[in-house]
Amino acid sequence: MGKTLKKNKVTAVRQACKCIHSGNCVLKHPTVFESKEKPWIKIEDSSTEKIIDTAKKCPSRAST
Ligand code: SF4
Repeated sequence: MGKTLKKNKVTAVRQACKCIHSGNCVLKHPTVFESKEKPWIKIEDSSTEKIIDTAKKCPSRAST
């Protein structure tokens, strides 16, 4: 199980072991996904819709 963060009705999970470092999430939503910081996902800095949209575009399903 990876890192789990919750906001409203959304639960964001990142499983670092699945990440293939395509950079899609960081490029699409740099205020929320910051690969060089911890926590890696700043869920409070984004809308629910943007978090869902970005997670859906993760090619390895590391972010769901
Ligand atoms: S989009 Fe998914 S695979 Fe790509 S860097 Fe982000 S978490 Fe990793």
